[in-house]
Amino acid sequence: MIDGERLKILTESAKYDVSCSSSGSRRANTPNGIGNASFGGICHSFTADGRCISLLKILMSNKCAYDCQYCVNRRSNDVPRASATPDELCQLVIEFYKRNYIEGLFLSSAVERSPDCTMELLLETVIKLRKQYCFNGYIHLKGIPNADPLLIERAGAYVDRMSFNIELPSEKSLKLLAPQKSKNAIVRPMRMLTNDIALKKRERSKFLPAGQTTQMIVGASPETDGQILRLTEGLYDAYRLKRVYYSSYVPVNFTNANLPAAGAKLLREHRLYQADWLLRFYGFTAEEIVREDGFLEEEYDPKCAWAIRHMDKFPVEVNTAPVETLVRVPGIGIRSAYRIREARKYAKLDYADLKKMRVVLKRARHFITADGKFYGEENYGRLKNALLLAEKTDNAEQLSFLNGAEIVKSVITGEL
Ligand code: SF4
Repeated sequence: MIDGERLKILTESAKYDVSCSSSGSRRANTPNGIGNASFGGICHSFTADGRCISLLKILMSNKCAYDCQYCVNRRSNDVPRASATPDELCQLVIEFYKRNYIEGLFLSSAVERSPDCTMELLLETVIKLRKQYCFNGYIHLKGIPNADPLLIERAGAYVDRMSFNIELPSEKSLKLLAPQKSKNAIVRPMRMLTNDIALKKRERSKFLPAGQTTQMIVGASPETDGQILRLTEGLYDAYRLKRVYYSSYVPVNFTNANLPAAGAKLLREHRLYQADWLLRFYGFTAEEIVREDGFLEEEYDPKCAWAIRHMDKFPVEVNTAPVETLVRVPGIGIRSAYRIREARKYAKLDYADLKKMRVVLKRARHFITADGKFYGEENYGRLKNALLLAEKTDNAEQLSFLNGAEIVKSVITGEL
């Protein structure tokens, strides 16, 4: 069994990876198996600074042959090193599972010796977990770019989700900060797995039931929010990713001329998550969401900021506007828009009805009419102030009640 010291090193080393928020896989336990996976089956935890952690999030090794400048595990960094064998990892998972500490595993690794060597050990671990230890719980495996595609494909047959981290938003930044990596080496396996998932779906067999995700570090390199969101859009389109995760750059025990001295603001990460939600579910494009300078507003959430810049499109009448228009109104989320569409089939809606449908009127009232009535602010300056106040009140309420965790939850559930 892995000793406490190594366990500490390997779990600590994994904490900067946020691409492990997990869901989307449902599988019942088998008669001789241990564990099950369900859509809500993995315990999520939210740290005070808003990062999502799974209960067993661990590296197989932090002895990295690469030297990515932003990473605590880089070869040139003087930190304690450790690795675990596939059997040690399996025993740990089973032990923790039996004690109810975890419901799943997020397994990643530094590149120890070579990509193939590392991927082989990761593959051996997941095969053993499934076959020898009969573990039937959720597994999210981090793939190793540049590893043999056959190893990657084989691993896909045993795990629920795989992710290859895109790391930085441009090839130029990758070259500068992670010279042993390339965009092509990262997206090639993504593309292969996307094709495999589609193929297996047609054959009605299971392969990566919870799909793929990726992670991007924000603020370590100079790319704008627009560049980040355009890349995100491309990744969703081309590889059908379940999620793109954004991780604010955190300086880790060194100074480096190629990296900013300070970490990125968590608020930037938060706004990117909100924008990401608009791309996936609200029909916005990256181009529409960002300002002319390529960045998102800090003061307002991206939908509100877009609406303020496009007052010529408002107000819209809730009794007649199509759903695609309603979801663009600040304070009307996807569910509220569909509720409105259903309810107005039977009667004309007024503000009291909207309130019952959970429309956030302190925002929405400036952008809608209900049966011709408008109760919003017509003066542009006062409108901006009212929305700013709404934003501040929400954040303050969330922070005071939940110490930030609920903000992240709204990012995960995404109603804007
Ligand atoms: S490959 Fe790069 S990012 Fe991954 S552990 Fe090694 S140094 Fe860190």
